[in-house]
Amino acid sequence: MQPPPYALVGIFVTLMGLAIGSFLNVVIYRLPRDLSVSFPPSNCTSCHAPIRWYHNIPLLGYALIGGRCAACRAPVSIRYPIVEALTGALFLWHFLVIGPEWILAVRLAFAAAMVALFAIDLEHQILPDEITLGGIAVGFAASFAVAPGWMSSLIGIVAGGAIPWAIAELYLRVRGVDGLGFGDVKMLAMIGAVLGWELMLLTLLLASASGAVVGVGLMLAGRGTRQLKLPFGTFLAVAAIVAGLHGAPLVEWYAGFYR
Ligand SMILES: [Zn+2]
Repeated sequence: MQPPPYALVGIFVTLMGLAIGSFLNVVIYRLPRDLSVSFPPSNCTSCHAPIRWYHNIPLLGYALIGGRCAACRAPVSIRYPIVEALTGALFLWHFLVIGPEWILAVRLAFAAAMVALFAIDLEHQILPDEITLGGIAVGFAASFAVAPGWMSSLIGIVAGGAIPWAIAELYLRVRGVDGLGFGDVKMLAMIGAVLGWELMLLTLLLASASGAVVGVGLMLAGRGTRQLKLPFGTFLAVAAIVAGLHGAPLVEWYAGFYR
């Protein structure tokens, strides 16, 4: 049997991303509220009317109901189609960069987790253990079969956990405030488990730099005070996706100086 054409696989991966984005909306809403993600089935968050299957079709469903619950007409958050479109686009991006390889499956699951952490940290300033600790276990197990290999994954977990923990301790001693939460520590360990220690360090660098730029920007715009607390997990999620897809050449180039 001939393998399916490249374009067809790309379309399939994108559609899968849209469907998983739809599921992520459930996770993003329910996990921080300590609700079950599997029961009850999708329902309106205002009137709890069950959602018909054709209104649950990614993107199309939101357009069909005009952004309002079909039963009570309560507005449905624009977050729903945004998360669906974003996940579909991320899946396609991964496929175009990685291609039809085994590691693609690991990285797609990782991307889905990053979307959930991005949105939950932005809205609730928490990073659920179900995703971060679960991700460490899955990432380490997968590293026996695909890159970065178990050694880099293990160092990534330990260093990813230790570095932000040390920063948080230092912050607490020097300024008497919590700089980073424990959620950030576990999330960075998860990133280390999946991407390996080199790309984990790159992720931390990218997230810190972009966080600083946004923080200074908000301060200049008069939107925040010195105590402004940015959701660092949100920045880590974006940085991890970029580093995971395009960081390897940068790490190679940097390592070249030491050869
Ligand atoms: Zn409703």
